Amino acid sequence: MKYIRNGKGFTLLELLIVIAIIGILIAIAIVGFNSAKATADEKVCKANQRTIEMGRAYYSLTNPSFGSSLEELEDVFRIMGISSEDETSLLLCPAKGTYAFVEGSSDVVCSIEGHN
Ligand SMILES: [Zn+2]
Repeated sequence: MKYIRNGKGFTLLELLIVIAIIGILIAIAIVGFNSAKATADEKVCKANQRTIEMGRAYYSLTNPSFGSSLEELEDVFRIMGISSEDETSLLLCPAKGTYAFVEGSSDVVCSIEGHN
C-alpha cells in the first residue's frame, strides 16, 4: 500500500481521511437535526395543548363539562377558526403522544414526558 504521493491523484490515506471527516460532519449534523426536531415537537405539542385547553374552557361556558374529546369540541374549534377535520387532526402531538383531558378542569396533558 502506497502512502506517498506519486503525483497522480490522491493516495488511499488522503481519501480515507476525507471520508472520515465527512462522516464526522454528517454525524454531528444528524445529532443537531434530531435535537432541533425534538425541541420543535415539544413546542408544537405545548401549543396544541394550549389551543385545546382554550377550546375546553370556551366549551365549558355553554356546557356543564369541559368536553372529553376533540370531536366533542368540534363546534368550538370551528368558532376558533379551525374549520376542517384536517385542521383538527393537526391538534395531535407531533411525537405521536396522546392527549389526556383532565377531569374538572380545562387542562390537557401529553403522554410523552417533557411535553407538559
Ligand atoms: Zn406531546
